[in-house]
Amino acid sequence: MKYVVASLALFVAVGAPAFAEDAPKPKKNLGYQDTPLVPGTTWHVHDGERPQPTVVTPGTFSTQDQPGKPPSDAIVLFDGTNLDKWQNQNWKLENGYMEAAKGQQTSKDSFGDIQLHIEWTSPVPGKGEGQGRGNSGVFLMGIYEIQVLDCFENQTYPDGQTAAIYGSFPPLVNANRKPGEWQMYDIIWECPKFDGDKKVVKPAFVTVIHNGIVVHHRTELKGRTNHKAAAAYTPHSATGPISMQDHGNPVKYRNIWVRPLKGYDQP
Ligand code: MG
Repeated sequence: MKYVVASLALFVAVGAPAFAEDAPKPKKNLGYQDTPLVPGTTWHVHDGERPQPTVVTPGTFSTQDQPGKPPSDAIVLFDGTNLDKWQNQNWKLENGYMEAAKGQQTSKDSFGDIQLHIEWTSPVPGKGEGQGRGNSGVFLMGIYEIQVLDCFENQTYPDGQTAAIYGSFPPLVNANRKPGEWQMYDIIWECPKFDGDKKVVKPAFVTVIHNGIVVHHRTELKGRTNHKAAAAYTPHSATGPISMQDHGNPVKYRNIWVRPLKGYDQP
């Protein structure tokens, strides 16, 4: 026993400096490199050298009384306190929301592929019918409209109802809340890509979640959204702003944030 104790004492005395704080830490063996490659990548299955995903602190969910907190890596476009990130200063800013007035609203910044979170509420009391009831819209890249409309007990042409890809695809379901209640869109947007001859080499795709319910699932867009005309692509730049439509109805918006989307293994 004495020998063991003496050995431990020696180890502590001699071994400890090797692990002092400023010494390089031994690299952890996190995985394997004697395994096959993951098809389509340069990484081995369970490759411990593969880049670690960036750490993001999640936000919180919104309630009717309180907008949720965005995730830590989000670009906050509107937190209810100012219109600094927006072009149209005529929209009414009050009580943590902005309200449609005097022309469309457009972000100052432009984006490519994004995750977009945006909340809106229809006017109370609900007035008008069909397309005339709480009409607005979220325009991705300022071009492609996801319809905002009060379709709670209000019918219109299906490809123009709430959450429709306007003029192309109705939502999979009608997930409307009552006018005056806050509603949420979580949108995953993949831009279209054009080649040097301005031909479409990759169409746009969109996923839309309305109030937590999937209403479009990586749907391919056939072009710009149009009123009474078929969707068709016209070439445009690789990035574009986010716009909200002023259709003459005082629709309110709050809690708007985006996360530019990156591919796998990118910091
Ligand atoms: Mg609209």
